[in-house]
Amino acid sequence: MTTDPPVLLLREDFDALIGALERRGYAVVGPTVRDGTIVYDEISRSDEMPVGWTDEQDGGHYRLKRRDDAALFGYAVGPQSWKQFLHPSQLRLVKADRDEKGGMAFSDGDDGEPARYAFLGMRSCELHAMTIQDRVFLGSGAADSHYERRRRRIFSIGVSCGVAGGTCFCVSMETGPAVTDRTPHDLALTEVIDGDRHFFLLTAGSDEGREVLAELPVTMASEDDRAAAAERVDRAAASMGRAMSADGVRELLRENFDHPRWEDVAQRCLTCANCTMVCPTCFCTTVEDVTDLTGDHAERWRRWDSCFTMDFTWMPGGGARQSAKSRYRQWLTHKLSTWHDQFDSSGCVGCGRCITWCPVGIDLTEEVAAFRESDPQNPKSPAP
Ligand code: SF4
Ligand code: SF4
Repeated sequence: MTTDPPVLLLREDFDALIGALERRGYAVVGPTVRDGTIVYDEISRSDEMPVGWTDEQDGGHYRLKRRDDAALFGYAVGPQSWKQFLHPSQLRLVKADRDEKGGMAFSDGDDGEPARYAFLGMRSCELHAMTIQDRVFLGSGAADSHYERRRRRIFSIGVSCGVAGGTCFCVSMETGPAVTDRTPHDLALTEVIDGDRHFFLLTAGSDEGREVLAELPVTMASEDDRAAAAERVDRAAASMGRAMSADGVRELLRENFDHPRWEDVAQRCLTCANCTMVCPTCFCTTVEDVTDLTGDHAERWRRWDSCFTMDFTWMPGGGARQSAKSRYRQWLTHKLSTWHDQFDSSGCVGCGRCITWCPVGIDLTEEVAAFRESDPQNPKSPAP
């Protein structure tokens, strides 16, 4: 856990946190309700947050429901992740304009100053996902300058979970539900509603976080307050909707390349790519060149792509992964096995989005359990 002693911020003072961030020049991005889901967007007041909402999640199922209290963070995670702000789904890389000699003059397409975002409400699994993307974009020799410019400008406020979603399994992946010092953050908070009392325990994880805390009307948290917060996070940890034994999964998938289970899942998979779009760690892109009708202006764009599309592995003669079986196998094996070889960690943080937003409810925890069932060398998945 963070080492600074926690302080207490009352619910009625929560907007002071948003105000302090805005005064520092941050655009505050937080959870808000839109189109029947909880999405991340710019907010300026806490009453724009999902006050009194929770989410019901299962394989291929997501519904918002009313809670019987006015919690701000009483849900798990929605379809979006913070990667959309650091690794945008569409990004112009290069511009080219015809010059007076008839040649093309090239310039940087990503030329604006990125916004300074304060991310309000990052779950622990999402902080872990950001550190995984840090390794992908910044840790492999040639840093991605587009990601780096955005990443270094953010202020992060983690939220320890008080409820677990129906498809969450962060406990299995050791990525939650408490925000800890294992992931860098500026502030961490835990929401507590106890009878008539509604408050947040806050700790700073950086010098700037301490400066922001110093501007808030906080008081020292009592032992009872700390115990109440810890009890809520423990309850979330004990009520994960899913579980998956991560022990040996790297070897399990590597050694079962020809397992008949891949055919089984291919019969259900629509290769729609939803699982990769919602995943907070998936990072694959494609590049497209476009011109205007005169041919005097051209642009190169980077867009999110997916290992589930036919074009993703296109080469002369066709795509390298023609079948749904080969594409699902590539995705799952990369997430849970070869990601370790490439980036020294799992590519999965157990957020459950790929289960919830799969239109046919394909569930990677079930798929891994099915491989284990047929492999006596590997321990069975634990019960959720
Ligand atoms: S693979 Fe699924 S559960 Fe794992 S991080 Fe991605 S979306 Fe979340
Ligand atoms: S596993 Fe589900 S979400 Fe992913 S591509 Fe297949 S059908 Fe779509």
